[in-house]
Amino acid sequence: MSAIIIGAGHAGGSVAAMLRQNGYADPITLIGEEPHPPYQRPPLSKGWLKGELAEDGLLLRPRDWYAEAGIDLRTSTRVVEIDRAAKTLTLSSDETLAYDTLVLATGARARRLVLPGSDLNGFLELRTIDDAERIKAYFKPGFRLAVIGGGYVGLEVAASARKLGADVDVLEREDRLLARVAGPVLSDFFRAEHEAQGVRFHFGVEIEGFEGLDGHVSGVRLANGGMLHCDAVLVGIGAIPNDDLAREAGLICDNGVVVDAQARTSDRDIFAVGDLTHRPMPLYGRSLRLESVPNALEQARQAAAAISGQPEPKPDTPWFWSDQYDLKLQIAGLPFDVDQVVTRGDPAGRKFAVFHLCGGRVQAVEAVNAPPEFMAGRQWLASRREVDPVRLADVTIPMKEV
Ligand code: FAD
Repeated sequence: MSAIIIGAGHAGGSVAAMLRQNGYADPITLIGEEPHPPYQRPPLSKGWLKGELAEDGLLLRPRDWYAEAGIDLRTSTRVVEIDRAAKTLTLSSDETLAYDTLVLATGARARRLVLPGSDLNGFLELRTIDDAERIKAYFKPGFRLAVIGGGYVGLEVAASARKLGADVDVLEREDRLLARVAGPVLSDFFRAEHEAQGVRFHFGVEIEGFEGLDGHVSGVRLANGGMLHCDAVLVGIGAIPNDDLAREAGLICDNGVVVDAQARTSDRDIFAVGDLTHRPMPLYGRSLRLESVPNALEQARQAAAAISGQPEPKPDTPWFWSDQYDLKLQIAGLPFDVDQVVTRGDPAGRKFAVFHLCGGRVQAVEAVNAPPEFMAGRQWLASRREVDPVRLADVTIPMKEV
């Protein structure tokens, strides 16, 4: 028997390691198109961009670990085709490999802007170490950066850029920040924090195209006739799943590869994990695609358990974090079907939590510099216990007693 994992990112690297932890003794091949061993992407927009971290600090495991664990790690190698009938895959080198079990962990890629002028030099995206290196080279005092998209990646880059002295404008089509992923209390809070740090926001804007000078972007042209001068544009408008291989192989896909609670695809011998997947979320009676490290790790555990014949792991509650300036945001759960929102603490004090409830039960918690609220929210999410909203809002009652 042999297992092949396509995609040597957070999810793929974790499946390989967990298989060995579970005692899986058969050959494992881990194939990644990037030149690096599996590494963590979250620091790319945070510590790494500010030069606070060395490359080895990004790696999931030391470089030598894979050979020591008997894992054949092939970097700079792209898988171009899967033949499910023959149970083989073809590499960009034309080599063919046979598998018994296949794990797809090809992640997602940054969504690109296609507008007049978006082929000029000076367009930046942030998904890989190489992207982050390119961005770093630009950030200097006085440098003018236009960030398109007020989501997590855009805001984290804006914070890092300000720290390095760059001039930052953020352009957002919606009328608030983090519109797709967080509630209005959080949007207003982060707007005020960024503005206090000198970031300028432009809400409700439509971009018509870009101006250039000697082949390099020099400005963003707005549909309302306005023009914003800049030296580079960071595009942070979300990510799309790398599900092309799976589609071409005939696996069921719907905004990502559709998997079950064991991370199994519509082919029994093929699993899929991480940003690539459209997964069930029983807590909310829905399926959806998530992009987070905890999600990649949870699905890696599911796939590794199924492949190595271990019991199915207990489901985790979805969670996420973001660091901007000295603010630690932690989010647990997803704000579906919310009928009441309770804020505990005062955002002006830069330490507060927003609880999203449905019928008295926590659906999600957004906590800023408030780990006890985050931890309690996560526990309540898992236990489905009802909470008293009045006591929850009362900061004189310690979290443990709420
Ligand atoms: P990836 O890490 O993207 O790995 C997929 C790998 O597969 C890539 O290396 C890709 O090149 C490779 N690949 C694709 N196609 C092929 C092919 N055909 N052949 C071979 N290899 C292939 N999450 C958080 O929880 N908290 C955060 O603060 C946070 N910050 C983030 C900041 C940034 C800048 C980014 C980009 C992401 C951040 N995330 C964060 C999200 C998190 O990093 C992802 O959810 C996680 O990396 C998903 O892991 P993955 O293995 O599914 O995908």
